[in-house]
Amino acid sequence: MVYKESKEEFVRRLKTNSLNGLTQQEAKNRLDLHGYNEFEGQKKETLLQKSLHHLTEITSIILMIAASISGYVAITQGTGWAKVIVILSIVFINVIVAVYQESKSEAALEALKRLNTNTTTVIRDGKKSRINANELVPGDIVEFNTGDIITADCQLLETNSLQIDEASLTGESEPILKNEHFHSKNDSPIGDRFDWVFSGTLVTNGRGRAVVVKTAMNTEMGKIAKLLNQTEKLKTPLQIKLTQLSKRLSLIALIAAIAIFLIGKFIHHQSTLDMLLIGISLGVAAVPETLPIIVTMILSRGVFNMVKKNTIIRKIPAIETIGNTSVICSDKTGTLTQNKMKIQQIWIESSEPTQSTKEFSKAEMKTLVLLTVCSNATIEVDEEGNEKVIGDPTELAIIRLLHKKGLTRVDAEREFPRVEELPFNSKRKLMTTVHLVEDGYLVVTKGAFDRIPVIWKNEEQRIKAQKIHDEFGSKALRVIAIAAKRLAQYPEEIDEKTLEANLEFLGLIGMIDPPRYESKEAVKQAKEAGIRTVMITGDHKSTAQAIAKEIGILGNTDSELVVTGQELTEMSDDELKEKIKSISVYARVSPQDKIRIVQAWQSKGEVVAMTGDGVNDAPALKAADAGVAMGITGTEVSKNASDMIITDDNFATIVSAIKEGRTSFDNIRKTIYFLLSVNFAQIFIMLAGVTLGWGAPLTAVQILMVNVIADGIPGFFLSFEKSERGVMKRLPLRKDSGVFENGLGFKIFQRSLNFVIIVLLAFFLGANAPEIGSKELGVSMAFIVMSLSSALNIFNIRSKDSIFLTGLLENRKLFLGTLTSVFLTVLIMFIPILRQTFEVIPLNGHQWFIVVILAISPIIVNEIQKLITSKNKMV
Ligand code: ADP
Ligand code: MG
Repeated sequence: MVYKESKEEFVRRLKTNSLNGLTQQEAKNRLDLHGYNEFEGQKKETLLQKSLHHLTEITSIILMIAASISGYVAITQGTGWAKVIVILSIVFINVIVAVYQESKSEAALEALKRLNTNTTTVIRDGKKSRINANELVPGDIVEFNTGDIITADCQLLETNSLQIDEASLTGESEPILKNEHFHSKNDSPIGDRFDWVFSGTLVTNGRGRAVVVKTAMNTEMGKIAKLLNQTEKLKTPLQIKLTQLSKRLSLIALIAAIAIFLIGKFIHHQSTLDMLLIGISLGVAAVPETLPIIVTMILSRGVFNMVKKNTIIRKIPAIETIGNTSVICSDKTGTLTQNKMKIQQIWIESSEPTQSTKEFSKAEMKTLVLLTVCSNATIEVDEEGNEKVIGDPTELAIIRLLHKKGLTRVDAEREFPRVEELPFNSKRKLMTTVHLVEDGYLVVTKGAFDRIPVIWKNEEQRIKAQKIHDEFGSKALRVIAIAAKRLAQYPEEIDEKTLEANLEFLGLIGMIDPPRYESKEAVKQAKEAGIRTVMITGDHKSTAQAIAKEIGILGNTDSELVVTGQELTEMSDDELKEKIKSISVYARVSPQDKIRIVQAWQSKGEVVAMTGDGVNDAPALKAADAGVAMGITGTEVSKNASDMIITDDNFATIVSAIKEGRTSFDNIRKTIYFLLSVNFAQIFIMLAGVTLGWGAPLTAVQILMVNVIADGIPGFFLSFEKSERGVMKRLPLRKDSGVFENGLGFKIFQRSLNFVIIVLLAFFLGANAPEIGSKELGVSMAFIVMSLSSALNIFNIRSKDSIFLTGLLENRKLFLGTLTSVFLTVLIMFIPILRQTFEVIPLNGHQWFIVVILAISPIIVNEIQKLITSKNKMV
């Protein structure tokens, strides 16, 4: 049956109250009944599924094949089960570590998702508050403003120029005008239901009030989500590259394994089974199986560290991009400045500017009252004296001054009841309201001076106003102009054309928005890190310039330009590209201009971070390499379009996020450096040994032992490595640079060569020792040198600075981890059963001496290298 329900019927049926909303208690009961207002995600893998997943990975499979071969040898030749046990334990340890780390990283990311939920304004018990959207229940009364995201399917109760972008639901890109007076049928297509708003759509203009009818999976968006029910695992570009790298390494390992097998078997006539086992274990050894796990750990640690520093990463790849940022385009108001506006001066036409602290004349008071009624911000003070503020700082400054003058918003509104509103938008830079007065209506407009639609009485008046305006501006004051007009009748059309025309100029206010304390230092830090800061603001040129000078964005040279929105519009794209590097400040721009600025910088190969808070900023946030939304003042729409959110709106936070991003990237490079050096070395050691006819210098279980214990344990703790000294003193990487940038490949080669030399030398000295030399002794010495030197190698890698500069204990976990792995290696040499398992024989004092010298020699070589090379390079 097709039927219509009026909005009153909805309110009745949902047992709510359109003014006061539900009671808190009722909302809680309904939450228990209906559940959280969120879409069911994909089912998570259980622990068992995860384990199976890792068990069926190629490394595990190869290892198990190796175990089977050893088992076969054990049965047929009676050589004992030790080898089988060792290999299986390694499979076991690998899987446990992998599952553990994966679960931990997943939990971290899950927590992140929770931080990322949308918020919504709800009325309960007659009080307005902002809650997490997942707590909404049917019957809740919600309110929304430009920039909000609708978080449930609702019937509208009240609207004011409400426009909704429903593209996410219907694909329709034009915003839809919504209105509570329209009665749609329950089965009308979504696009025709003009008195409803739907979850997941965006408020692009105006405001509204509505009753929640459907939540969670019952919403239209929920129905779609059900179809798509899949949360894809996002991989960063780096992770993708690393997967490719792993594949390539597997191939190299495979070829090496086959070569070793063939050479050993046919040239040196070793036993088939031995060679097969060595070939296979080399195949395993050469693949850095722990690398992807460590990288995930580093990334999730990066996310975690950033949360502690007020940054919420919305998309994991952002950790990487933010670290490579070379240009930050930042909003001025609230990001570089405190956004705690304070009115300093008021000027009304008939007199001279007055300090806000002075006594106001009657006319000045009236202007302040009119500014108040043309604002939407509120300041409430509760019993404990806590201030609760809602609204735009510009307007809050007005209300605050009004309070100081002994009046309240309620007083003002009693005098001028509001009947209409054209909301502020940063493109028009104006806001207009219509009020009921004795003999008709009063239209009040406030906004930017150069946009205020007034009729000047005479040229003199205009010049005077301009002069005062410029005076305010040059003192870095933000200026708001106010104008009004009377109408005898209710206007026929409520639109910009009829209301915002032919007004009478009333006056100006100038408010100060001091820079944040941290801004200057942060701009300086960014500069040292090779990052350019560019200021973007809707404010007037002189205001912008004054602030930019103060925080060091504008130096004292004339080569840096301040460009206004109008000049920008007149520039062609090519012209802009040509000039882009010299422009440090953009004043009087609209959000639409931001996207051109982003693209011009990008065309120069720069990695651009762009901040934004408004609805109109969303496209620029998306276009930027790192879109940064504001946690406090940001609209939900801008947050959803961003890659990361800075929860304190502070410019300095962006700079610290860059530092964190660089650190994560460094740690990933260190891990690659650390693991691959050993893996490559192993391949060459085996190839060389077998080719030279020495046989294998290391046995299969030994290689596995090195990879899991000697190398694996310290490697994990690289994710805890703190920022390098001077991470913020070097230039950002080029846009297209990969992990092997800055000669990492060559460094890996050097390091492996170092290992190859000392391990082969150890083998040679053992095998050819006078009187007692044997292959067993050679293998034993080679094993010790390989495992000790690769574990100790962590100290070469963890910093580009000398050990003496960084100290061993700075990363305690890493130090203890390394100590443990050294201890375990040495233990093997002293416990008979372990010796047997790992196929080694005891060393005498003289041999220990040689082995230790060889094992620490790479550190000495590396320290010398560090002394020679320049300081501010990356690892
Ligand atoms: P910003 O990028 O610095 O935040 P905005 O786009 O918010 O700049 O504001 C640009 C101009 O619009 C301001 O200089 C001021 O003149 C005017 N303005 C700002 N907020 C309001 C408001 N709530 N009502 C009327 N005018 C405003
Ligand atoms: Mg603003």
